[in-house]
Amino acid sequence: LPDPDVVALQDEDVADLLPRPAPESDKYRRGVVGIAAGSHLFTGAAVLAVGGAVRGGAGMVRYLGPEEPIGLVRARWPEAVTTIDDPAKVGRVQAWVVGPGLGTGEESHRIAAALLKSDVPALIDADGITLASRDRALLRRTAPTLITPHAGELSRLLGVPRERIEARRLEHARRAAEELGVTVLLKGSTTLIAEVDRPVRVNPTGTPWLATGGTGDVLSGLAGALLAGGLSCYDAASAAAYLHGLAARRAATGAPAGLPYGESPISAEDVIARLPE
Ligand code: AMP
Ligand code: MG
Repeated sequence: LPDPDVVALQDEDVADLLPRPAPESDKYRRGVVGIAAGSHLFTGAAVLAVGGAVRGGAGMVRYLGPEEPIGLVRARWPEAVTTIDDPAKVGRVQAWVVGPGLGTGEESHRIAAALLKSDVPALIDADGITLASRDRALLRRTAPTLITPHAGELSRLLGVPRERIEARRLEHARRAAEELGVTVLLKGSTTLIAEVDRPVRVNPTGTPWLATGGTGDVLSGLAGALLAGGLSCYDAASAAAYLHGLAARRAATGAPAGLPYGESPISAEDVIARLPE
């Protein structure tokens, strides 16, 4: 029997959710997203998450991180405003993205803890989730929180073996939302969005070509831009998953023009390039 508490996302749902600039809009009111991502080891995560936010429609992107990714972020995304390592020096944002490539050491924990104390919605991904699996206090926030784990990250957070999560993804996405009091976007071949008292949303877009390094970082930046634009965690996660999947499909098939030879591999940067479409 169909489960009434599970719904598939459709074009119309997502089109209605997307923030559009009004005539009187300015960049601040459109939504400023803060991104704490990347480290000396994982510089690319910073560039990709910022790219997802810039191309995903943020009014402004503020990037916080160490010197090395900052050089790359500035070169690739001159639109972003950057701050070296000090959370107190970042201007006001309407949402935070914390975690892609951030690292899991003491310094990364210090930064994540400082940012997650803020009273704006936050998306926690990747190393941010690993940090939260060691220190659950990071998830006890006053503002709404969205986590975007793949099965391995959710496994760490729930203390449940990865294979059990893969075998019962719906159940574990729901359980994480209930136990942790956050919105959950569970990534994988089928992406699920779970929140307490809401039907689980299933994302029908996407392509297995997305299974390549860096695409998750792009999704985080995109969802962060939508959060900063005023969408709820549930809606930002839904719209981001949907658009990310569509952009990836277009990149892989060359659509709308179409390629005579079918599909081809994509990179995370190809997904960013197709987001505005
Ligand atoms: P991450 O695990 O953070 O690198 O993110 C990977 C991204 O690719 C997520 O958006 C996943 O949902 C997506 N993805 C990974 N594998 C597949 C697959 N087999 N089919 C569709 N999407 C996938
Ligand atoms: Mg990831």
